[in-house]
Amino acid sequence: MKNIAYYCKRFAELNVSSSRKRGNAQYKPILLLSVIDLIARGVITTNGILVSDELVQTFERYWNVIGSPSYKGGLHYPFFHLQNEGFWYLKFKPEFNGLQPKTINKLKEAVEYAYLDSELFNFLQDEFCRKELIDALVAAFFSDNNENDLEAILQINQTFQDDGVDIEKLIKTGNVETNPRWGLKRAVIRNAFFRTAIIYIYNYRCAFCGLKVTKKVNQNIVDGAHIKPFSQFYDSRIHNGIALCKNHHWAFDKGWFAVDEQYKIIVSNNLEEVSPHAKPMKDFDGETILLPNIEQHFPEVEALQWHRQNIFQA
Ligand SMILES: [Zn+2]
Repeated sequence: MKNIAYYCKRFAELNVSSSRKRGNAQYKPILLLSVIDLIARGVITTNGILVSDELVQTFERYWNVIGSPSYKGGLHYPFFHLQNEGFWYLKFKPEFNGLQPKTINKLKEAVEYAYLDSELFNFLQDEFCRKELIDALVAAFFSDNNENDLEAILQINQTFQDDGVDIEKLIKTGNVETNPRWGLKRAVIRNAFFRTAIIYIYNYRCAFCGLKVTKKVNQNIVDGAHIKPFSQFYDSRIHNGIALCKNHHWAFDKGWFAVDEQYKIIVSNNLEEVSPHAKPMKDFDGETILLPNIEQHFPEVEALQWHRQNIFQA
């Protein structure tokens, strides 16, 4: 059945060439991230993906930030080879000679457009499904659960953040109106790197209750949560992050609990709670949250204070 889990698996198992020395050649994942980006930004609206200037530029932008430096990027390569994955098809022009196009111009001469399984294209219209699919790609091709990769992920996250500063400036000066989609929606990709880094730093555990449940590499129960909301601050630095399970992420966002300057949990007074099989939230009051191994990655005291003052319902 072609449900969202099916496509997450297809994405995580893309056939990419790789060598021990040079790592993965991330052409296909970066092409898919670029297509998802353009769908999120409302540039691609129909299931006929053209070799457009926007797609070429988006691919290059992502390649420069997240692509492996040991390979030379080029959109024509994955645009053609993604055909072998069973969900990406090409509509060729009548004059196509059957040979693999070796440049972007040759690709434009050969191909009318690409199209996806209609099920997949429909999933990509939904914000939640896009997030699932992006996370599957990022977990499978841009992190290998070791320290070197964490450094790479942190670097990528920082690069996106540096970009983000400009977005914030644009919003303040009002210039974002000229191109609102580009700045804000691009967050869908960059926040995947934030989430991946935060979850890794906390070893896949909820900082509140310690819960850890994983299924293979690309699914787990813990979220990388923003302390000060991303929608308001556009701050995806590691200090503004904390790993929380789905329940405690939701409760934190609603202000049902907060964290003090000693990293101790404060639970709201007026919760009515029935928890016959798990430790009630109330009982965590006064306990220290689970912290990262490295102090540099601790949540920022100032961000936690902002959350206590603006979100917490004492
Ligand atoms: Zn939890």
